[in-house]
Amino acid sequence: MSYVDEVLERVVAKNPAEPEFHQAVKEVLESLRPVIEANEETYRREALLERLTEPDRQFKFRVPWVDDKGQVQVNTGYRVQFNNSIGPYKGGLRLHPSVNLGIIKFLGFEQIFKNSLTGLPIGGGKGGSDFDPKGKSDREVMAFCQSFMTELNKYIGADTDVPAGDIGTGAREIGYMFGQFKKIRGTYEGVLTGKGLSYGGSLARTEATGYGLLYLTEEMLKCNGHDIKGKTVCVSGSGNVAIYATQKAHQLGAKVVTVSDSSGWVYDPEGIDVALLKEVKEVKRARLTEYAAARPSAEYHEGRGVWSVKCDIALPCATQNELFLEDAKALVANGCIAVAEGANMPTTLDATEYLQQNKVLFAPGKAANAGGVATSALEMSQNSERLSWSFEEVDSKLQGIMVNIFHNLDDAAKRYGKEGDYVAGANIAGFEKVAEAMIAQGVV
Ligand code: GLU
Repeated sequence: MSYVDEVLERVVAKNPAEPEFHQAVKEVLESLRPVIEANEETYRREALLERLTEPDRQFKFRVPWVDDKGQVQVNTGYRVQFNNSIGPYKGGLRLHPSVNLGIIKFLGFEQIFKNSLTGLPIGGGKGGSDFDPKGKSDREVMAFCQSFMTELNKYIGADTDVPAGDIGTGAREIGYMFGQFKKIRGTYEGVLTGKGLSYGGSLARTEATGYGLLYLTEEMLKCNGHDIKGKTVCVSGSGNVAIYATQKAHQLGAKVVTVSDSSGWVYDPEGIDVALLKEVKEVKRARLTEYAAARPSAEYHEGRGVWSVKCDIALPCATQNELFLEDAKALVANGCIAVAEGANMPTTLDATEYLQQNKVLFAPGKAANAGGVATSALEMSQNSERLSWSFEEVDSKLQGIMVNIFHNLDDAAKRYGKEGDYVAGANIAGFEKVAEAMIAQGVV
């Protein structure tokens, strides 16, 4: 049996009931086959793939807090420190009822390669909880965040592990967590990124994932003979990534006609009104029905359906496994030329294959959404030098990083005879640096 197949079997056997983790490992290892085959003896002797697929350590803890009725609630908290061979663990905290260990492990595993692709010194980690901030009062969210940090603070630090936002964790949650870290540890350090501007945050961090997604998409289109200007775009999701992806798409001359949330989706042929979307989602924390009610050109539909709308570019920005094979078929039938993932692993494996077979340009999340974590690394740099850079400076660094990522994965794919396969390119380029660092640092 090949080394890759052996490790895939081992991962499934050792981590039962973690389908998302299996899916992420399978996607990465399948596309690394040519690299592994070229170095099989060394990698086997080093047990490199076994070490890469086993987190350095993982924490699971109780998070008790008191709700507004005086009732004690109990959630489960997680932090998985996956790999720190190229820098301190870095990755977000997801707060969503779907969170379990397998989800955090898939995200932490993806983060290793994503962070490596940025070219910045950050390792891979991820955390979160099954707490749902939706519908909770600010006081309840604060009570949860303080309890969560009371435990998490033992494992993190500016030079060891630096968490950040993800689904459900935005500026409000990061603020409460930072406050509690400072209270317990008594140090003022860049232990979290995505902080508010008044206490060490970076300009452009809020916009970074969505903007970065568009910078990479624009470069991918350009290098394949297309112009983003005038293109029709379908976006899914309506959180931080979707909002700023829509804003940047409009700035680049494209038109975004859809957004979605957990209840339904909006089709707005005039182009999504970003100011209204921000008001509904960021200020009122309301449903998209409110967007549709305030916007005469918008149609609201219950359930799923974004990928049935005719578009040139599809940007899945909601969550994992939200673009299935039948969606990929609809996109191809409607003439879609590019899909770039704003979320982590939104496209299923069979849907990705179908898109690639049908010559749709496909940018995987670990490359396309790396702008968020890259800008987090820029926030860490600013915190270390106790300075803050202008919006333009951060934004232009972000743009350079995204263009660079695209060329790195394009080159890596070509080097292994897989021209245009950006999934393979991203996995190979991300892996090479981590593998070299792991081998150089010995068996640890
Ligand atoms: N949660 C984001 C991601 O998936 C950002 C992580 C960070 O900034 O550390 O990459």
